[in-house]
Amino acid sequence: MNDTYRHKGLRKILVEEVHSKGIKDEKVLNAMMNVPRHFFMDTSFVKYAYKDQAFPIGCGQTISQPYTVAFQTQLLEVDRYHKVLEVGTGSGYQTAILVEMGAKVFTIERQRDLFLKAQSFLPSIGYKANFFYGDGYEGQISYGPFDRILITAGATEIPEKLKSQLKIGGIMVIPLGDSSSQVMTRIERKSDDEYSETEHGRFVFVPLLKGKSM
Ligand code: SAH
Repeated sequence: MNDTYRHKGLRKILVEEVHSKGIKDEKVLNAMMNVPRHFFMDTSFVKYAYKDQAFPIGCGQTISQPYTVAFQTQLLEVDRYHKVLEVGTGSGYQTAILVEMGAKVFTIERQRDLFLKAQSFLPSIGYKANFFYGDGYEGQISYGPFDRILITAGATEIPEKLKSQLKIGGIMVIPLGDSSSQVMTRIERKSDDEYSETEHGRFVFVPLLKGKSM
């Protein structure tokens, strides 16, 4: 697959659109300018890669809308060398954005096919991350604690194990709600047992499910 001038031009327009919708973090916008979203789409949707919409990626899952990816990433306040845990690798597009921003990324996916695809595809286009097939509710205790934790599926509650894998001063971004919509929630760990929460509007994600699927 090629990343042509035409793709770069479409990407620039998409980044301007995301910016006009309120994303001001230059690091996020730059990363979005650099990651070829069309590489991450299902073949039947490649031509829509630079629309600000979510699309199916197989296994009943979706690649998130670019604005949503940018919104979550901006809230996460990612810095170079941050250890970031992502739950819900999916297409790997969000993973690539985090790697592009200089983070050391640990990403978990419960759908085996999506995990296998992302694990082989991302390194082939230069994005190195640590891929895990498993249940994101469990986190990755042996690699934690993390500076940042990002959940890219809608959860009905905050997974306790993930809270405990956050560094003190660390931030988690998680969409919380039922299957119809979720409130984007930012959680900061203040001390061993204190967390503060802020809410940032409604979004719609595929559900965060327990266990792993075959
Ligand atoms: N970040 C992805 C978004 C994918 S949609 C992207 O940019 O493409 C959310 C993903 O979360 C789906 O692939 C789904 O299979 C996965 N998921 C849902 N529950 C999970 C869990 N408990 N652990 C790990 N992944 C989960």
